Amino acid sequence: MTIAANLERVRAEIRAACARVHRDPAEVTLVAVSKTHPPEAVLEAVAAGVQHFGENRVEESEFKIPAVMQQVNVPLTWHMIGHVQSRKAKQVTPLFQVVQSVDSVKLAEKLSRLMQEQGRSLDVLLEMNVSGEASKEGFDASSWDTDDGVRARLWAEVGPILALPGLNVRGLMTMAPIVPEAEAARPVFRALAALRGALADSFGVSLADLSMGMTDDYPVAIEEGATIVRVGRAIFGERIS
Ligand SMILES: *Cc1c(COP(=O)(O)O)cnc(C)c1O
Repeated sequence: MTIAANLERVRAEIRAACARVHRDPAEVTLVAVSKTHPPEAVLEAVAAGVQHFGENRVEESEFKIPAVMQQVNVPLTWHMIGHVQSRKAKQVTPLFQVVQSVDSVKLAEKLSRLMQEQGRSLDVLLEMNVSGEASKEGFDASSWDTDDGVRARLWAEVGPILALPGLNVRGLMTMAPIVPEAEAARPVFRALAALRGALADSFGVSLADLSMGMTDDYPVAIEEGATIVRVGRAIFGERIS
């Protein structure tokens, strides 16, 4: 299968998922996750009309993003989707237009300060660990709706981030646990959507974006309100290690 053919299939799945829940496919942004794949693969996806790409490692991005950008004459939007150590924030802001993986107040403050120094602002998502898996990055948001302590801590972290002048907090991101059936991830997506609603109400902000859903489960995520899906293997094939 070529990348172009894979993209056709993914786009058809996105349209079908939207149709099932009466959503407009234009509400769903496809981020092609190109991690481990070479610039040539990204260029193939660009030729097939992809504008949004996701990467999860700073070192890989420092080589790949400039290599791609030298060869395209269309604007692309690069999304950082992996954990960023605060000390690497400085390397991230020149390369990425969106950081989906803001997972601490410290990182948020660092990014905001860097952007302010340049008189710019950065689009970010706050990564939430709604499944409670210890291996997942993100703010602890498991049982936020039943545990007052978790909720209070989470609210106390999110509030100050929303007020940072250098960040435009567009919404929330999560990773579902790896499950045998996509359907089993549905409660996680539903929980992220509910959390977005609660935070938006509390703080009087819109948090319009929900980034959720990967190769194994993006149709279910779309049914639950995803506005951004992050799809790697279904587009580029298995990751190159
Ligand atoms: C790798 C990755 C993806 C894409 O995963 P696939 O299963 O290849 O679609 C999405 N989101 C994040 C955060 C990732 O690290």
